[in-house]
Amino acid sequence: MRTIIEPFRIKSVEPIYFTSREERERILEKAFYNPFLIRSKDVLIDLLTDSGTSAMSSNQWAGIMQGDESYAGSPSFYRFEKTIRELTGMPIVIPTHQGRAAEKILFSVMGGAEKYIVSNTLFDTTRANIECSGATGIDLLCEEGKYPSIPAPFKGNMDVEALESFIDEKGASVISLCMLTITNNSGGGQPVSMQNIREVKAICEKNGIPLFIDACRFAENAYFIKSREKGYENRSIESIATEMFSFADGCTMSAKKDAFANIGGFIAMYDESLALKCRNLLIITEGFPTYGGLAGRDLEAIAIGLEEVMDENYLAYRIRSIEYLTNKLVEAGVPVMQPAGGHAVYLDAKAFLPQIPVDQYPGQVLACALYLEGGIRSVEIGSLMFGKYDNCGALVPAAMELVRLAIPRRVYTQSHIDYVAEVILEVFKKRKELKGLRIVEEALVLRHFTAKFEWASESFCFA
Ligand SMILES: *Cc1c(COP(=O)(O)O)cnc(C)c1O
Repeated sequence: MRTIIEPFRIKSVEPIYFTSREERERILEKAFYNPFLIRSKDVLIDLLTDSGTSAMSSNQWAGIMQGDESYAGSPSFYRFEKTIRELTGMPIVIPTHQGRAAEKILFSVMGGAEKYIVSNTLFDTTRANIECSGATGIDLLCEEGKYPSIPAPFKGNMDVEALESFIDEKGASVISLCMLTITNNSGGGQPVSMQNIREVKAICEKNGIPLFIDACRFAENAYFIKSREKGYENRSIESIATEMFSFADGCTMSAKKDAFANIGGFIAMYDESLALKCRNLLIITEGFPTYGGLAGRDLEAIAIGLEEVMDENYLAYRIRSIEYLTNKLVEAGVPVMQPAGGHAVYLDAKAFLPQIPVDQYPGQVLACALYLEGGIRSVEIGSLMFGKYDNCGALVPAAMELVRLAIPRRVYTQSHIDYVAEVILEVFKKRKELKGLRIVEEALVLRHFTAKFEWASESFCFA
């Protein structure tokens, strides 16, 4: 097989910034060992997130110029609406300024005290919005999704038996929504199979529970279905995506992921009365229903991006480049989530740094080490992001301690990825020297964004 090349050529470039090891030591200390607090100009390869960091196409930039900025009834909105209607089959499309604004609106209406929202795995902003409404978010991930190093084709699937017993236990009336995150971001960018979507829908339907899709990476998921699920080999990405959405009563999406936009999101649904309540909130928090917190030009860029992302050559390159990095690491014995996910490589920090206890945040230590070693920015997805405290103030750790290296879409080339692999391998060689971190300051919700750290022991003797 020939090399799978980047399916684009480069028309406009932006510089990246080189720093020395000594500079990075100072920068990291000033950022309190939290990569979120480092300035992007101090980062060489930024793998903090694939959100809003995509390179837009020349077509999208042309769309930006065509954006109509009318307050009401802009043609850019109708183009946006038409694209999403055709993709999802859902007649009602509500634009928001990002995914979490869609979630905030949806859960303000559907959440509330004593309600449950069940999921394969809720993303962090989704969970925070559910909890903020007073409701409880429940993750029911399939068993194979819980073991980072054991490959399986659809590790993002929901555990359908656990879903049935949860409904039996609590009663369907308190479960206001079932949400499938596609692909499963927090669980490693792992896909959900069509069969699983179908089965989850059947259970939800039997119990009168609406099924929503968190559709941020629907195209990457569709590509995995095409390449891994029997019966879908010869189907187009469009038809697979449409089938996925056909099982859902609604969806939320951040356009900052698979729509290649720098900002944006939406809610789509069938239910008129739910839409009415959502729009009432939209008007006071986001804006008029035909722009919803976005400029007309953003609506254009999103509509174009949603079509571009379903290009199979693009998706083959996208999924292959993640696999390429994952395989390089696996060959060198580095513990990584397997198989490769759709948008990121996940290092298993618990296995990488077994000497560091979970309450000293091995994932955060590893993220700091990657920055120090090579100027790479990544993010902890573990007990810093998802840990809780019990009544005595002891940490209740997350199920996994991962470090996510999210790959922005159409931004980095193969040599950038080769460099990333080299840096990870260098840190892996020195892994035994690494020591734990301790939190010195943290917020009540989404603490990983702003938490400050210091080294738990005297020094960090990592040369
Ligand atoms: C990014 C993301 C969100 C939130 O979207 P924002 O645009 O960042 O607010 C929700 N769910 C998933 C799965 C995501 O990846």
